[in-house]
Amino acid sequence: MPVETELYELLGVPADATEDEIKRAYRKKAKEHHPDKNPNDPEASQKFQEMAAAYEILSDSNKREIYDSYGMEGVAGRGAAAGGPGGMDAADVFEHFFGGSGMNFAFDFGAGSRGSRRRPSSDSIIEYDVTLEDLYNGKSVKMNMEREVVCEPCKGSGTRGNAKPKKCVKCEGKGWTFVHTQVGPSQLATSRAMCSECDGEGEKLKEKDRCKKCKGEKTVKEKTRQEIHIEKGMSDGQRIVLAGAGDQVPGSPPGDVVFVLKLKQHESFERSGNDLLTTVKVTLSEALLGFSRILVTHLDSRGVRVSSPSGKVIKFGDTIVLRGEGMPVYKRSSDKGDLYVVFQIEMPDEVWLQSADRAALERVLPPKKAEVEPKPPVVDEADYEECDIADFGDDEDTWEDEDDEDDFHPGMGEEPECRQQ
Ligand SMILES: [Zn+2]
Ligand SMILES: [Zn+2]
Repeated sequence: MPVETELYELLGVPADATEDEIKRAYRKKAKEHHPDKNPNDPEASQKFQEMAAAYEILSDSNKREIYDSYGMEGVAGRGAAAGGPGGMDAADVFEHFFGGSGMNFAFDFGAGSRGSRRRPSSDSIIEYDVTLEDLYNGKSVKMNMEREVVCEPCKGSGTRGNAKPKKCVKCEGKGWTFVHTQVGPSQLATSRAMCSECDGEGEKLKEKDRCKKCKGEKTVKEKTRQEIHIEKGMSDGQRIVLAGAGDQVPGSPPGDVVFVLKLKQHESFERSGNDLLTTVKVTLSEALLGFSRILVTHLDSRGVRVSSPSGKVIKFGDTIVLRGEGMPVYKRSSDKGDLYVVFQIEMPDEVWLQSADRAALERVLPPKKAEVEPKPPVVDEADYEECDIADFGDDEDTWEDEDDEDDFHPGMGEEPECRQQ
């Protein structure tokens, strides 16, 4: 048995009607109530649209199932969660159906005859910043939060003792009232608006009959302490769901608290899937003569020692892979990806050169380049002037603001400074 039957009643079919029966009932009713056929009935277009909306839901087996289980609130909330355009509420659903139909229409189904304006309790989505270290090592975080819980003394009724809310006089218990808006010289649009007297509840509780603790609000704020477990190998954007830890609403299941991990950029490591990438500077002598040292300090503060094979010359941009030193695989954290290391060669500076035996250097280093052969017929002299590569092409766009930040990245030499060992 469906929790609500309003839509079935609109089409005049029983709740167990077949798809075909619903279709036939709608066609008949739609013809009957078409605004063109009822020019003197201000409510005709409204009725017509309500039926179209009811048909839209009941003719879609998915939506009908949701409606049967959760009512109109379910179609508004869960329906959207189940693949619809995100976050539509009942009014949006209607706008969506009728937008561009040329008829001015606003309708809040949530404030329907059942006298409830409550939406299903929504999930709390919280963005949570994590470091690559957190995702590598795993981490548990405790945090203080506040949520709405059903008021204990009144059990979520909002009333004091056995007091009963009275039917709202203004809207006669419907929770909404008709509003007429001028939309053109001779055109009046009729729409429903939530009753301001009862806030769409259809009933009202006298001041003195309200629960003392929640003041008739049915829920109270409660401080809670939540713990989330960031597991090894989790990724940027991954969601950690604390089911039922969200706000409570009387008569509906509580919402979830959803943490969405947001990875902060790391200064030394870059992640792709389960692999990691880092850049390491080696000195000129290491590049020529080899090394055996801690090359990388890992995300768990562990040093990783690497020895280069003897006789190997490392060139700028050479890459090695350290197998099994990548990220732990999510849910299989004993397995790890690989760590890619890109080499940069750190050249010695002028201070070193001043103290060096240049003649000896010349003897041991490979010879300088000879003049090009055959010699070009014309050779000019040019000055050696150091410059900033960012100035390249600058004379082309003189109209640009001189202070403009330049985004030029001249290759790997400008990569973020890596951890020097
Ligand atoms: Zn009212
Ligand atoms: Zn209460």
